[in-house]
Amino acid sequence: MQTYDALVVGGGIFGCYAALYLARQGRRVALMERESALFKKASLVNQARLHGGYHYPRSMATALMSDEHKERFTREHRAFIHARFEKYYAIDRFGSFTDPGQFERFCARLNLPCERIEHHPLFNYHRLEALYLTEEHSFDPVLLRAFYINQVSSNPHITVMLNTTLEKTGTVGREWELEYQTQGQEGVQLLRTPLVINATYAAINSLNRLFKLPELSLTHEISEIAFIHSPTFGERGLTVMDGPFGSIMPYGKSGLLSLSSVAYTHHKISYENLPRFDCQLQEDLSCQPERPGICTDCARRPVSNAQKMLSQMRQYLSEQVVFDYWMSYFTIKSKLKSSHIDDSRPTEIACLRKEPAFYCLFAGKVNSIYEVEKAVMNL
Ligand SMILES: Cc1cc2nc3c(=O)[nH]c(=O)nc-3n(C[C@H](O)[C@H](O)[C@H](O)COP(=O)(O)OP(=O)(O)OC[C@H]3O[C@@H](n4cnc5c(N)ncnc54)[C@H](O)[C@@H]3O)c2cc1C
Repeated sequence: MQTYDALVVGGGIFGCYAALYLARQGRRVALMERESALFKKASLVNQARLHGGYHYPRSMATALMSDEHKERFTREHRAFIHARFEKYYAIDRFGSFTDPGQFERFCARLNLPCERIEHHPLFNYHRLEALYLTEEHSFDPVLLRAFYINQVSSNPHITVMLNTTLEKTGTVGREWELEYQTQGQEGVQLLRTPLVINATYAAINSLNRLFKLPELSLTHEISEIAFIHSPTFGERGLTVMDGPFGSIMPYGKSGLLSLSSVAYTHHKISYENLPRFDCQLQEDLSCQPERPGICTDCARRPVSNAQKMLSQMRQYLSEQVVFDYWMSYFTIKSKLKSSHIDDSRPTEIACLRKEPAFYCLFAGKVNSIYEVEKAVMNL
């Protein structure tokens, strides 16, 4: 029987940050991760946009939350942030949910720099209603991964348990008594803790279910982030919003650009609380709705939509801009069902049980890791 002051389940950026925050308070923390390494899912496979608010002209709450954390995230992760590139936001002439007047008022209200650019040789003004030079940066997920792995592994208060999953939950007095299994080790082991934090993102409802606690109302999408390179476009970024959304921007300091679009990034959608997809085969236990796997490593991952995404984005650019496609990453993106209304991406932290305590931490944006502190501060 091992005892800890807290168990954090899920080794993405939110789980790592929660474990480090608790450890800084002198607590002994177990950080449990199903896979053989930390940071293999959403914290690695994303557009790497350091959100400052621009992206959410229809959700002031999400825009304000991004803006609130941007400065601190930048200060504390400066070495992993790419800030030296031109970042453009644009509005499509056709089908956009935003118009130039609304976007300009929105930026003015949030104090977001936004300069309208009337002529630029790299862009196609026949298709763009308005183009803005903005200030948006990109974090480097690969460097962040290395940083957080080093931080949690070298912290004497944190025990990292890889290849490990919870099998059974129960309570003894004011503590959880939990059975877990580590791949390659025989039998189950036991741990006791007064506090569990669920930071498993796409698997969040599966863990809530194991603890017999309420679920979040979610949708899940198998999403593709394509990586491209362009000597002509260089390290610029372009985001076209809001409706026929598409984006090209530096993937941190890698020298590559990430490419995504609303129409083609999301290959399969699951409207159930657990991510259930037709590519999950019953006989393959490594990926099931209760335990989603690593899509990039899966032989049944979707065929890339990179060329379709590129065709879409080329319409916004002049003919001189050419791109090379390199490769794609795939992962499950989970969203609150309510996000369909205003395209919001809140980070929600709920205390689902007080004694023993259970917190459910559903992450909307990487730079909102500090929301963890608001919840954990009161423990
Ligand atoms: C395609 C895409 C694009 C995005 N773009 C951006 C962007 O540009 N900017 C931005 O700020 N945010 C973006 N996001 C959102 C952001 O990536 C996520 O909000 C954030 O990474 C979630 O972090 P996490 O630690 O909660 O989840 P994850 O990184 O997914 O980590 C969860 C971990 O839990 C583990 N796990 C699951 N079940 C169990 C279990 N039972 N036991 C043990 N471990 C378990 C998983 O293996 C995984 O390692 C994007 C997300 C996606 C998917």
